[in-house]
Amino acid sequence: MRIFAAASEIFPLAKTGGLADVTGALPGALAGHGMGVVTVVPGYPAVLAALEDHAVVHGYGDLFGGKARLLKGRARGLDIIAVDAPHLYDRPGNIYLGPDGKDWPDNARRFAALSKAAADLACGKAGEDGADILHCHDWQTALAPVYVKFAGGKKPAKTVMTVHNIAFQGQFPASIFGTLGLPAQAFAIDGLEYYGNVGFLKGGLATADRITTVSPSYAQEICTPEFGMGLDGLLRARRDVLAGIVNGIDEAVWDPARDPHLPQTYGAKTLDRRTANKRAVEQRFQLAQGDGILHGVVSRLTWQKGMDIFVACLDALVAGGARLALIGAGEADIEKAILAAAQRHPGRIGAVLGYDEGLSHLIQAGCDTILVPSRFEPCGLTQLYGLRYGCLPVVARTGGLNDTVIDANDAAIRAGVATGFQFSPVDQATLAHALARAADCYADPSLWRGMQKRAMASDVSWSRSAAAYVQLYRNLLKA
Ligand code: ADP
Repeated sequence: MRIFAAASEIFPLAKTGGLADVTGALPGALAGHGMGVVTVVPGYPAVLAALEDHAVVHGYGDLFGGKARLLKGRARGLDIIAVDAPHLYDRPGNIYLGPDGKDWPDNARRFAALSKAAADLACGKAGEDGADILHCHDWQTALAPVYVKFAGGKKPAKTVMTVHNIAFQGQFPASIFGTLGLPAQAFAIDGLEYYGNVGFLKGGLATADRITTVSPSYAQEICTPEFGMGLDGLLRARRDVLAGIVNGIDEAVWDPARDPHLPQTYGAKTLDRRTANKRAVEQRFQLAQGDGILHGVVSRLTWQKGMDIFVACLDALVAGGARLALIGAGEADIEKAILAAAQRHPGRIGAVLGYDEGLSHLIQAGCDTILVPSRFEPCGLTQLYGLRYGCLPVVARTGGLNDTVIDANDAAIRAGVATGFQFSPVDQATLAHALARAADCYADPSLWRGMQKRAMASDVSWSRSAAAYVQLYRNLLKA
């Protein structure tokens, strides 16, 4: 089976978020099932710099405004084809944003070009033999299934469209349609037309042979007006080809037994050693030392993450006897409220504003819980790290949070299967109630220890998810 993937980010070459983690890890996990994946990515400077002895597989005289080459090679352990198009990708800084912090004005062209190159490669029109499957990730590559459908040639590849967050859709004015090199019939309800505009993700969802998203619950949710962000009608119509597959984590990077960021490594049998990490969290976050429950937060400080509601709960959290260590960055109002709460409660609330990989590991290894009160969460990684580190997740019952954490209700406790705490809907009262439930369980050390062990035994690996993708590809080829 020849599989091409297409993505605007891939770890470790180019990353702004979880998308890169998925596109970077999935090829390795699929290799474990005997499947090779070549990923088509933009030739950003960092990608071209990492490319080892490449071959030029195709040249374009004019790819959206300039010459381009498709370079095939290995980069940091990945098989890639880089779209070397300097007029589109040879820019410093963030891959989506210009120096003014706004989207590059030609993002439509930049990612139409990526989609076109991926479709040409997959359909055997760009020097390669073509592919059986073309797996596209998010709006930046969502035009590829449209190109395959409307301009595919003799043997178009089967296409898979994966949605990592439906909030990002790639919508542009109708005036760009003429630049895309698609036949007129593509600007239609079964193509990329979206309320009179051009919708990249809409086009991908309308034309791909299969649609996936990153958890079964999110797959259901995006079919509803509340979560579908305008695309729910289309998704309901295509429900028979929609599936949810939960992401895995990089278990080498997130391994409490070998984590270089920790003062003290530990395993499920040596949970007592976590205490040294708790002491380190207290010190680093200027918290009073103590054995009482210590909550942790590692998050973007945004509305999506429910952080506005969380900050409103902080006084009650402290009044209940708990402490908090938080690292995050985001919306100014939320940052301000957190700093104010830390000032009101010295020794009880410790906050670091910014992004710090090391501290994020320390929180997972030293705090008792990790809080994820998201309003929506396609998959979520933070709670998966929490499970692996025995840092019990307290999560909103939504999306991937719902699918990966088993709530400690009475039945689950009696059955010995609970791994964390869920609450719903996301508001102050339900969050406060979940925190109180966590504190109650924490007061019973053998119950807590049992939950930690179970959490650490949860399968958060890529192998299970990769098997699900393999099955999906196989079914698609049979279809
Ligand atoms: P999202 O991609 O929506 O932000 P995820 O839970 O899928 O949410 O992934 C977030 C990732 O970013 C996790 O790896 C988390 O540890 C990390 N992260 C978020 N904020 C910070 C921060 N301030 N410092 C360090 N790591 C962070």
